[in-house]
Amino acid sequence: MSFMLALGETEIPDGDPISIWMGTGAALAMALLLLLLAVAVMRRPPGVIKSTMEEKANEDVKADFQVFDVGMKVYAYAAFDQTYHVADVIERKTDGGETSYYVHYVDYNKRLDEWVPAEKVQQYTSGVAPPSHCRSPGVVGPVGTGGELLTPGSDRKLTRNLKRRYDEIHHVPKAVEELNPIDQTLEKEHEEKTKVKNIQVIEMGRWEVDTWYYSPYPDEYARESKLYICQFCLKYMKKKKTLLRHRAKCTLRHPPGDEIYRHQKGVCGTAQERPLSIFEVDGKKNKVYCQNLCLIAKLFLDHKTLYYDVDPFLFYILTEYDEQGYHIVGYFSKEKHSSEDYNLACILTLPPYQRKGYGRFLIAFSYELSKKEGRVGTPERPLSDLGQVSFRSYWTRVLLDILKEHRGNLSIKDLSTMTAIRSDDVVSTLQSLNLIKYWKGQYIISVTPKIIEEHLKNMSSQPYPEIDPATLHWTPLVNRKQ
Ligand SMILES: [Zn+2]
Repeated sequence: MSFMLALGETEIPDGDPISIWMGTGAALAMALLLLLLAVAVMRRPPGVIKSTMEEKANEDVKADFQVFDVGMKVYAYAAFDQTYHVADVIERKTDGGETSYYVHYVDYNKRLDEWVPAEKVQQYTSGVAPPSHCRSPGVVGPVGTGGELLTPGSDRKLTRNLKRRYDEIHHVPKAVEELNPIDQTLEKEHEEKTKVKNIQVIEMGRWEVDTWYYSPYPDEYARESKLYICQFCLKYMKKKKTLLRHRAKCTLRHPPGDEIYRHQKGVCGTAQERPLSIFEVDGKKNKVYCQNLCLIAKLFLDHKTLYYDVDPFLFYILTEYDEQGYHIVGYFSKEKHSSEDYNLACILTLPPYQRKGYGRFLIAFSYELSKKEGRVGTPERPLSDLGQVSFRSYWTRVLLDILKEHRGNLSIKDLSTMTAIRSDDVVSTLQSLNLIKYWKGQYIISVTPKIIEEHLKNMSSQPYPEIDPATLHWTPLVNRKQ
């Protein structure tokens, strides 16, 4: 099985918290609808030719947009930076005379795939520069249903979003290319099946969150563009009124399972506002809860194969506490019995809670569990783009902190034992920092205090909650009485 990670802890040089979810107020939506209508009646330059019978039937409604078929390359006007990019047409739909295209921007993360209205899609010709954004009708407000809502006056938001997205895009390796041929084939099949995002928005607790990816909800739910989710039991519903009825009778106020860790507000001088708790939930005992959790997680994870077979896993749910209850902010799952040192299968911080150090907190927690087990651990591969960055950042910080304090010789094995980080990960991290040499068949760590200081200076100064192992109340599964 392969699992992927999305943490949203990508380093931003200025450490500025940037969230990529956005609420969609009714007024905003209405304004954008009007804008789209205005855009739709604008005429395009002449010389555009129709290509299929289907659209001929619609000629009365929209006579002058060229039609593109699935698989064609086009220029599409992207919500993430308000310019045209080369894109592949993945799907086409016509609703009430309005045609739109689901496109994938070539060389960009699939997260940015979106529905683009026909008037923002243009013919692609190799070697010809893309249309400049000022030639686009309605420059101010492109609305891809998969993208963000951007309005005039939201420049600041746009800039910050862009910055984060560009950082993500430019810092990450392409996961598929790192896979072996069999995994690549599986991965491609998965891609084929999940090309078009189904659910666009979820409402959960006080958040309305734009989703990122396809998730395999049952068909009758997958047809909805918005789902309503009970934030405590994670049940999903199609109608707001169903959720309201459900809330009146749902008694759950925390994840089912045992609270194994509690972290009081303000501990270690962090920026975290509320007390945190971690609950352990058994996939076998609370199957529906864990399945619902995996379905939500998939909305924000590109590659993942676990949805329904949750029995072999334990789930560690991170919550923020307030007077209403324990609100889920993220989780990771862990195989009950791993033969390959895996200590983490899948990890997610929900978008409204990203950039608060919670991804790092969950990663650190997974290693605390490994220390209690007296084993080393490593996350399942392949790692997602965000997962890769988050783990690398965690390993780097932990190893540098030890090397900074330690006097005398340290071997890779020593570092691995002290941190529960698997030796391979220790080596690859030190290699990426250029702190290790391979000499006569063995690795030699070669550092000076000055070099360590330099590296530490380059690391994010974002505060994060630090785990206190003394308050972890947990017995490894193998030591529990059945
Ligand atoms: Zn509920």
